[in-house]
Amino acid sequence: MGGKMGKLTRKEFVAGAMAAFTAPAAFAAKGEKAMKEIELEKLPYAEDALAPVISANTVSFHYGKHHAGYVKTLNGLIAGTKYEGLPLVEIVRAASADGNAAVFNNAAQTWNHTFYWNTLAPEGKGGAPSAALVQAVEAAFGSLEACKAALADAAVKRFGSGWAWLIAEGGKLAVVSTPNAETPIVRPGVTPLAVVDVWEHAYYLDWQNRRADHVKDVIGRLFSWKAISDRFTAV
Ligand code: MN
Repeated sequence: MGGKMGKLTRKEFVAGAMAAFTAPAAFAAKGEKAMKEIELEKLPYAEDALAPVISANTVSFHYGKHHAGYVKTLNGLIAGTKYEGLPLVEIVRAASADGNAAVFNNAAQTWNHTFYWNTLAPEGKGGAPSAALVQAVEAAFGSLEACKAALADAAVKRFGSGWAWLIAEGGKLAVVSTPNAETPIVRPGVTPLAVVDVWEHAYYLDWQNRRADHVKDVIGRLFSWKAISDRFTAV
């Protein structure tokens, strides 16, 4: 009885102490926590801006449901964990190193999709590759057309869901593809420059099984060579 009483008293004391000494801190932490949630970054154009290659309907589902879903799931998974409050890239890398598949998949998909939307621009608004990028492209592939063909080939040959990437590594350009949520940002020294999403959700509403035709038009008509050149400059 005395023991139980003591326990309760101690519990009450602890609760009281917590309320008295940590309430302002807890309040601040709560506000901070809300601000540290990973956000769904805004599209850099209107939902119908990529049509007819990618319809507003596809963007509506792809961005509004798939991409937004990854962000929401990620925030649920990381709340109260060591990942909470980290920049998105750090969450991707830490979850990869930890073998935390759920956090990795949702964090990487969040990052990959933001990168994808910003790889694209409305047709005619993508600009041209910089002289420095053209030089690197020619050194690696022979020509810009050969670079586009290599990326398209990687995108078409990716079995199942995944991504095809143009990357810079050690100043040299290369094409790689990754399955599912895998992303080159987990590899030290690799800078992604462009990406094509070849999950079926990226093209099935508009192109059904014609992945090759979709990929060719995404690369040929929607790539933002300005954005890609800016990423290359930052290497
Ligand atoms: Mn996607």
